[in-house]
Amino acid sequence: MGYPLDLDEYDEQRLAGELELRQGRRSQGLCDYCGREPDTNPCKFPERHRGALAIREQDMAALAEVGEELKRARAKFPAMHSGHEGWAAIKEELDELWDHIRSWKGEAYGAEARKEAIQVAAMGVRFASDICPIDQDNDEQS
Ligand SMILES: [Zn+2]
Repeated sequence: MGYPLDLDEYDEQRLAGELELRQGRRSQGLCDYCGREPDTNPCKFPERHRGALAIREQDMAALAEVGEELKRARAKFPAMHSGHEGWAAIKEELDELWDHIRSWKGEAYGAEARKEAIQVAAMGVRFASDICPIDQDNDEQS
């Protein structure tokens, strides 16, 4: 998206119309540049789409579920020992999610698909913390 004319090519009436359009969008809580909701993917002006950049309530709920799944998995299985083992654990969960996606018939994804997505995320977290933990020394320097 962009403007069809440079600023100096606008006559006063078009410029006034543009200002009115922007003010109208802002008063409706929309991005004055692209006219979309603040929680939609950012346009050229990301600061006007802060909603899309923020962690939302539904994200927090999903992250809490990932935490619960992580605890359940840690109680059941020892730490991942290698990249290959971690990859296999993630792939197993990803394949189970794929089964739900392959059998999709246009309905909303249900609790079972959600559970698989949460398990994929939990295995990703295990991979990160078991296989490639944060380097404490480098972390303190940054
Ligand atoms: Zn925008």
